[in-house]
Amino acid sequence: MTVRPIIALCWVLTACTRREPSPTATPGTTAPPPADPRVDTPASPPRAFGERVAERDALVRDLARQGVKHERVLAALRRVPRHAFVPDSVKGMAYADQPLPIGSGQTISQPFIVAFMTEAVAPRPTDKCLEIGTGSGYQAAVLAELCERTWSIEYIPELAEQAKKNLVGLGYRIELRTGDGYVGWPEAEPFDVIVVTAAPQKVPQPLLDQLAVGGRLVIPVGARSEVQVLERWTRTSLGRGAHAFTVDRLLDVRFVPFLGDGGR
Ligand code: SAH
Repeated sequence: MTVRPIIALCWVLTACTRREPSPTATPGTTAPPPADPRVDTPASPPRAFGERVAERDALVRDLARQGVKHERVLAALRRVPRHAFVPDSVKGMAYADQPLPIGSGQTISQPFIVAFMTEAVAPRPTDKCLEIGTGSGYQAAVLAELCERTWSIEYIPELAEQAKKNLVGLGYRIELRTGDGYVGWPEAEPFDVIVVTAAPQKVPQPLLDQLAVGGRLVIPVGARSEVQVLERWTRTSLGRGAHAFTVDRLLDVRFVPFLGDGGR
């Protein structure tokens, strides 16, 4: 595949970072915590949850200072051990608010971006949530903390394999698939929440088709060479079975490009 060397060179530049702050983050709502999303919660949970807690707390306080308000989202970021999702070579930087390389020229997004995108789709404990771009599995774990069920699709087989190890090792119950997320996950639709973590040039129609009425999709849109815009699409009912979408442009960002033909 010819694109990979280019992406490998570009990860530092095109990692999932914020370009400029935005005042349009969705205000928080309070809701009861979801059931524990982890499988057969072991008597003593995987050690990583109890490690580096002070660093995670400090990061989350910083995210709150940057404007993240949604309590359930902050609680999920406080709980998920980001250091368990990154390679040994960058573990020391796991709680800095910055993207990090995860191999195959891809990155784990900056924590602010994970929090901002998650807040923008405001997952509820009864929601079915789909992520496109599993990467390390970190954003999927954050969704699993907040949603009733979570699905995630990764294009690059090596990353999909590593993400599965990361998630299973921590006991997360997430449906994972290797393939092109452009087509979504038709067998499991409709989804209340869809989070896309790589940037296509336009929003994939199959993902819009798979959004439930009232559902929210958040996605970076734009060419690699341009400033991309993080957009939130909400499906609304017009009555009598007719639907429409409202689109909010939330933030200028830079994400890695959407792979496969569908992203062009
Ligand atoms: N959400 C990830 C990081 C995202 S980086 C995390 O929390 O670690 C973007 C990811 O999207 C990369 O792993 C990339 O391989 C994947 N990706 C890019 N195009 C894709 C596509 N068409 N279908 C599925 N995954 C894709």
